Amino acid sequence: MTRSGMDPERLRHRLRDVREAYPRLLLLEKSMPGLRRELESVQRDGRAFGEKHIAPAALEIDRRIGEDETYFPWDLVRRASPHGFLSYIIPAPFGGKGFYTTHFAVLMEELCSHCAGVANIFGAHALGLCPLLLSPDIRHYSRYMQPVALAEKRGEPQLFALAITEPDAGSDVEDRDEMATARLSAHAKKVSGGYILNGRKVFISNGSVARYIWVGAVLDRKRPVETTVSLVVPNDARGFSVGRIEKKMGQRACPASELVFEDVFVPEEDRVGDEGEGEALISNVLGASRGPVGAIATGIARGAIQRLLDYLNATKVNGRYLFERQWCQAALSDLCVKLQAARQLYFDATISCDLLGVPKLMSHPLMRALDVMPSALLRSGAAGAAFQSRAMYNLVRELAAKNVRRTDVSLIAAYSSMAKYTASDLAVRIVSKCMDIMGEDGPVEEFGMEKLYRDVKLTQIYEGTNQINRLFAYKHSLARS
Ligand SMILES: Cc1cc2nc3c(=O)[nH]c(=O)nc-3n(C[C@H](O)[C@H](O)[C@H](O)COP(=O)(O)OP(=O)(O)OC[C@H]3O[C@@H](n4cnc5c(N)ncnc54)[C@H](O)[C@@H]3O)c2cc1C
Repeated sequence: MTRSGMDPERLRHRLRDVREAYPRLLLLEKSMPGLRRELESVQRDGRAFGEKHIAPAALEIDRRIGEDETYFPWDLVRRASPHGFLSYIIPAPFGGKGFYTTHFAVLMEELCSHCAGVANIFGAHALGLCPLLLSPDIRHYSRYMQPVALAEKRGEPQLFALAITEPDAGSDVEDRDEMATARLSAHAKKVSGGYILNGRKVFISNGSVARYIWVGAVLDRKRPVETTVSLVVPNDARGFSVGRIEKKMGQRACPASELVFEDVFVPEEDRVGDEGEGEALISNVLGASRGPVGAIATGIARGAIQRLLDYLNATKVNGRYLFERQWCQAALSDLCVKLQAARQLYFDATISCDLLGVPKLMSHPLMRALDVMPSALLRSGAAGAAFQSRAMYNLVRELAAKNVRRTDVSLIAAYSSMAKYTASDLAVRIVSKCMDIMGEDGPVEEFGMEKLYRDVKLTQIYEGTNQINRLFAYKHSLARS
């Protein structure tokens, strides 16, 4: 029943209908016939969880963490277990859903339309898994990803986090040229059987609650690009501790914290890839993850428009519902165009990552063969040993070298930076405009818009500030030789 003659539910549906939201899917329908149905099911799944569990709790969680930054909504994360959000991108033979970057981005948009803080718990977890997925060192599929998927099935979620940023090194660690002169502190010293890790990481999403942390550290501070190693550290490793948990303006449900490593021994088996491959891996991770950040921003913006629709439908000014005013209709049209532009950019970034980047290897016959193997076999016995062997690692590395072109990797980096900075800039403008239209109610907590305003700002900062992403996009598109 509508008061103004407007039907917010119908409009809400139009805002997210997969066919209308992703018109490029029509072009892909022939080559990827199942994709639309898969994205629809991802969206339905995200919506079911978002409407039932996130929406009613979001404001209270935000308020509670504002008072006590150590609070973490474990209960909500546990309730998500049946949906498998923590296993979304884990390959199916290892207990996951085997979804790709695009599926995950669509999930992020959906969850973020309710609360980007809660959604980002799943987002930061996927970010932590990314180096394991994108490295040819697929031993870690069974070593880490399978246990994570199994734990989620048991309703005992285990989170991952990704630690790149350091007290004196942020943007520079994300760019190969800048990294050469970055002041990096996290240092790994080679010792018998592994490494001794020392240093600090800051602003690490999920850092204080993660069971496992992926850490980038240098072997030689004078040669960071050539000597970065990629290590997985469990949270019960001796010498690991959580430092300060930041009091953030937004996305509070996903804590960002300082992590301290004091003489932490990391066994050689917990290194991902070879020594010196860490920098390239970080580049690949950011190429895959910046598109989904565009989706996070788009989701927050969509949440703002959805809230605005309810407001316009319920609020009268000078005897007429706001929705009936032409200026409001024109403003809504403008907001939806911006939303759609943000969405197309992230879709282009994620689909090109899936079709041209390392994820495309998952559809190679060799990887497909894993689908038919019982997962227990991949962990033990002769098949397990073969899967874990150096020969297998070399095979996948060769596969990647033959099938993933360097020019395409550069293109993905450009698209993902463009999606990240443009979608987040547009989203900030959308939420700001929604707040303007609501007048004095805009900044009032109970209407929910002020939280979205606090949440959306962060998307311009993390995964490389938008200034840095502009430079990155330039470097990987216009300036590419
Ligand atoms: C909520 C939140 C969550 C985060 N989660 C994680 C996480 O999970 N893991 C992780 O590793 N990190 C995380 N970060 C860190 C984040 O990625 C960095 O904050 C970001 O990359 C910027 O780095 P910085 O803060 O060191 O800024 P700096 O690099 O010090 O930059 C400061 C300013 O200088 C500008 N600047 C720097 N270099 C240039 C240049 N060459 N040209 C033009 N302008 C430049 C920047 O744009 C910025 O405005 C998170 C940050 C936030 C806010």
